Amino acid sequence: MEWQVYLDKFIASGGKNLIRYALFAGIPYFIFYVLFQSKTFRMKIQQKVPKAKDVRREVLYSLSSIVVFSIISMFTFHMIQSGQSALYGDMTEFGQVYFWLSIPMLIILHDAWFYWTHRAMHWKPLFKYVHLVHHKSTDPTPWAAFSFHPFEAIIQGAYFPLLVLIIPVHPAAVLTWILYQFALNVGGHLGFEVFPKGFTKHKVFRWHNTATHHNMHHKYFSCNYSLYFNVWDRLMGTNHPKYDETFEEVCARRAGTSESVNSQAA
Ligand SMILES: [Zn+2]
Ligand SMILES: [Zn+2]
Repeated sequence: MEWQVYLDKFIASGGKNLIRYALFAGIPYFIFYVLFQSKTFRMKIQQKVPKAKDVRREVLYSLSSIVVFSIISMFTFHMIQSGQSALYGDMTEFGQVYFWLSIPMLIILHDAWFYWTHRAMHWKPLFKYVHLVHHKSTDPTPWAAFSFHPFEAIIQGAYFPLLVLIIPVHPAAVLTWILYQFALNVGGHLGFEVFPKGFTKHKVFRWHNTATHHNMHHKYFSCNYSLYFNVWDRLMGTNHPKYDETFEEVCARRAGTSESVNSQAA
């Protein structure tokens, strides 16, 4: 029966996203917040421990987003089944060069989609009724990766079905983009800085975001809106003016060379 096929798709998509979320958020949470908490605390961007009620809210809203993403997957599946999508399964159809270029294309277009929809979410009425859910985490943990109001989950989940209406992509390219997206999204909410000193001033690496970058968005709200790359924020002048400085402070504290660590140790 047809509804059974869609139900199976819903369950399979939900199951995959649940496993990815549990692994991508759970493993770093366990390592940084539980197992090595005393050793990693100096790497913590904001020097405080998250409250259990905040972690609970982040998990519950992320689970509700996974339900929304699974419903969107059902619609996408319907599009593919009825021949309305540009998804292709035969690698020879567009060739290897197109395949390898389609991965950065998926990421670059998603980066633009995220930046502009995210800025729209900061428009007062949308912020108050929708995006505030995500910003209840002023010091996020990896569990906050999908802590969205259902409307925001729809906007974020809509990127792929809209894209695949017009641009041909292979499922393997889609999976690579999804895994990178999970890693970067969880990394942005990690709460700990793992990138090396000087990263934000390096002539190439400064174009890529860090954990400090998105953590500052959760702390100050009206700055640092981008997801993967530090391109749109630089172009639009929305980087926090103290981004580089804060990043270096966290790196110095992590290395044990900052004054605050020295004075605490003294
Ligand atoms: Zn966030
Ligand atoms: Zn925001």
